[in-house]
Amino acid sequence: MYVTKIPSPVGNLLLASDGQTLTGLWLEGQKYFAATLDGDAAEQPELPVFRQTAEWLDAYFRKEPLPALPLLSLRGSTFRQAVWKLLLEIPYGQTTTYGELARRLRENGIPAAPQAVGGAVGHNPISILIPCHRVLGTDGSLTGYAGGVETKRFLLELENSVNGGYPCPCCGCRTFPVPTAAALAYICPVCMWENDLFTASDDEPSDENHGLTLNQGRENFKTLGVCDSRLARYARKPLPEEL
Ligand SMILES: [Zn+2]
Repeated sequence: MYVTKIPSPVGNLLLASDGQTLTGLWLEGQKYFAATLDGDAAEQPELPVFRQTAEWLDAYFRKEPLPALPLLSLRGSTFRQAVWKLLLEIPYGQTTTYGELARRLRENGIPAAPQAVGGAVGHNPISILIPCHRVLGTDGSLTGYAGGVETKRFLLELENSVNGGYPCPCCGCRTFPVPTAAALAYICPVCMWENDLFTASDDEPSDENHGLTLNQGRENFKTLGVCDSRLARYARKPLPEEL
């Protein structure tokens, strides 16, 4: 076992290798830190796989085109490995949910409850490269990240600033600078969706000023171009890159 430590915008990272492949990458102080690391690991910063990983991370944090991932070795139960493989398929800048991952596993004949998926995601041994930060709660919340919710938000915002926006829950235009659940009192400039007016739950009535549900807001958007007809003169059309 070999290790090295490299600095990053989200703090020091500990990398582990068997000499050929990357076997671990942890944020200093994270939950399950170095969980799969053997006792006697030697510092070896010159290992080619460490250099390759550092180059990948450098490009990632500079928002440059990403080189190929280094070879990864994943040690864990068959179930966890299946979850980690799915994580690798989540495209850059996009998110999924624990429930959606569980559904995809079941489609592949693997029985999976969202909680079990959450456990496997939390034990991801190679942070950032295996993008467990792209998994949100079913309501879009930034729930549970072994490296801390602030780090998760940082990584999602970094990817989002390259990709250009999270989809508005009502009109679907990519007008949100952060995931919806993290956008406090944000108003979509296209359809006027406002998280003060429409709660995350699709059919829950919103506050007393407007009394609409999110589904009613979406219906209004389809017919009127805005969630609330009284706001029509403030809304603008989506820009091409938002669609
Ligand atoms: Zn909108």
